Amino acid sequence: MDEGDYAAAAEQRDRDRAIAARKPEPQLLAAIGECYNCSAIVPPGVRWCDSDCRTEWEHRQARGGRCA
Ligand SMILES: [Zn+2]
Repeated sequence: MDEGDYAAAAEQRDRDRAIAARKPEPQLLAAIGECYNCSAIVPPGVRWCDSDCRTEWEHRQARGGRCA
């Protein structure tokens, strides 16, 4: 057995947990009058232009909140 494999697995587990903890719940997000994905102006109470923007934003959150 390689101890390094154990360490890497534990590290990956911790990272997954940290990402899960950091990911905001969409329904808890405040509507800020701008699309969270592309910063376009949206009506009050709306957080994304459309479902495409929401999906794209969620994918970005899942990747750690950074643009690729
Ligand atoms: Zn948008």
